Amino acid sequence: MTSPSIHLADSDCEIQSQVSLAEMTTFRVGGPAEWFIAPTNVEALQASYAWAKAQEISVTFLGAGSNLLISDQGLPGLVISTRYLRQQTFDAQTCQVTAFAGKPLPRLAWQAAKHGWSGLEWAVGIPGTVGGAVVMNAGAHGGCTADCLVEAHVLQTDGSIKILNTEQMAFKYRSSCLQQHPQPVVFATFQLQAGQSAAQIKATTQTHLDHRLSTQPYDWPSCGSVFRNPLPRTAGWLIEKSGLKGYTLGGAQVAQKHANFILNSGNATATDIFNLIFYVQQEVEKNWSLLLRPEVKMLGEFPQIT
Ligand SMILES: Cc1cc2nc3c(=O)[nH]c(=O)nc-3n(C[C@H](O)[C@H](O)[C@H](O)COP(=O)(O)OP(=O)(O)OC[C@H]3O[C@@H](n4cnc5c(N)ncnc54)[C@H](O)[C@@H]3O)c2cc1C
Repeated sequence: MTSPSIHLADSDCEIQSQVSLAEMTTFRVGGPAEWFIAPTNVEALQASYAWAKAQEISVTFLGAGSNLLISDQGLPGLVISTRYLRQQTFDAQTCQVTAFAGKPLPRLAWQAAKHGWSGLEWAVGIPGTVGGAVVMNAGAHGGCTADCLVEAHVLQTDGSIKILNTEQMAFKYRSSCLQQHPQPVVFATFQLQAGQSAAQIKATTQTHLDHRLSTQPYDWPSCGSVFRNPLPRTAGWLIEKSGLKGYTLGGAQVAQKHANFILNSGNATATDIFNLIFYVQQEVEKNWSLLLRPEVKMLGEFPQIT
């Protein structure tokens, strides 16, 4: 039986019902979206967002799903994935790159390096999109989105675009104002620097990638680091010292290679992963009197976790 879908005549786009979200997250778990669309142009994004607002149903935005744990029950309302909005322009005059929300961050980092523009070398190993990076203030190797973002263009409910500069984005460690007040990021502009040779920038980018591939378990489904680092300690160190490397619950496992990664080691459910996150949190608190705070965004029905 085919699930019903809704055709939005104005923008010629289709909103589908009961679409599985498991394949749209890097954890490879999660139930269906009540309604789903992955717009391929801004008009379809505007039309689907307006449709959800008119229906008074909730809206959830998805990039590459690389920082998400979606519940086995799935998500109510409309899920909008911006992963297919992928164009970018490099402005040689200003040394700025403007990229749409779905642009894969590693791809953008390599393109910048090939231009001989420095500033995104840190981003090469982060398997998310520009939209997700802006919302999460993604970062690595001492760099982060806030360091080079000039402005983010977000869609408002009336269909107009609002421009947010770095100050308005209220960036903090792995956080921005768009986490408390979700609005769809349509595109973002980054300031990069010319001057170094392309070969040098490519070499730094490659070094970062090599380092990550050798220290993190990229060959299994995960969301990257599960917990924020309670600086000056790292979450991985606290979890490892709690003896939890390799600890398994259902199909979820604390990675041997990096203790702050939880892997879907085969047929995990979102509930398995959630329960393991909670268990790790409790064990670390017992051993270190420190409550680890999840970096991964948990969407849908889960017991409350702080
Ligand atoms: C192997 C691995 C390694 C990782 N390493 C790092 C790392 O080094 N540093 C780091 O910071 N992160 C890392 N991550 C986590 C993740 O890649 C980042 O948080 C990334 O920025 C998420 O981007 P995304 O497109 O996948 O966003 P999603 O996971 O799809 O979404 C994340 C948040 O952004 C919102 N969002 C996404 N797109 C939009 C949009 N267009 N408009 C509005 N809201 C939107 C979502 O609603 C959600 O709140 C890693 C993940 C994996 C799997």
